[in-house]
Amino acid sequence: MKIKEIFNNVYEIDLGDGIKRIGTKSLVPSKRVYGEKLIEIDGIEYRIWNPNKSKLSAAIINGLKNMPIKRGSKVLYLGSSAGTTPSHVADITENSPIYSVEFAPRIMREFLEVCRDRKNLIPILGDANMPNTYSNIVETVDVIFEDVAQPNQGEILVKNAEWFLKKNGYGMISIKARSIDVVRDPKEIFKEQKEILIKGGFEIVDEVNIEPFEKDHILFVGIWKGE
Ligand code: SAM
Repeated sequence: MKIKEIFNNVYEIDLGDGIKRIGTKSLVPSKRVYGEKLIEIDGIEYRIWNPNKSKLSAAIINGLKNMPIKRGSKVLYLGSSAGTTPSHVADITENSPIYSVEFAPRIMREFLEVCRDRKNLIPILGDANMPNTYSNIVETVDVIFEDVAQPNQGEILVKNAEWFLKKNGYGMISIKARSIDVVRDPKEIFKEQKEILIKGGFEIVDEVNIEPFEKDHILFVGIWKGE
């Protein structure tokens, strides 16, 4: 078993079977969030971060170069769902807050269980289209991560950046082509969303297609140059 830190607090874990795996140090040892594998190396427990269950893991495995979420980063996470990816983000930032917005009450109930163990996850039942409604809770952040599968995905990131992202902070967005249009060529849709991000104030510094883990998905990373 070999381990190497590939980004701050993100590890490549080699179990000797030739499969590329990444993981995070568990903030809550011996507890699983979504059935992930737990591995102990030199007395430290790591959670294997499954690329089939998390687009951020898929992007890292597929060669993401810019990973702005680090130990100590403040994050606004849009579309937390039941907390699969947010739980790994919480492991990475350690004591820093992840303001986690989710608009489906039933899913939020599941997410609350994850927040009970990871005190740096701050659940917000809200609509990512309306950042003003949670502006009394969220502070200025270093990174916004968005995974909401909505037709106006790019616009949602820009709106939230205007409210909460520090100058030169990072926006990360997973774009699902089929949430925007089921018949158009995904490449055209990605180009269009990228233009929305650039016009809105982002300089795009990275883009990673996350196939085969997710079909017709791309992850963009941009630096916020807006006001
Ligand atoms: N990011 C999660 C992960 O990797 O663990 C998965 C997110 S899932 C693809 C998308 C989530 O976004 C769903 O739980 C959905 O309810 C939520 N969502 C969709 N539109 C939203 C909106 N406008 N505001 C807040 N949450 C939204």
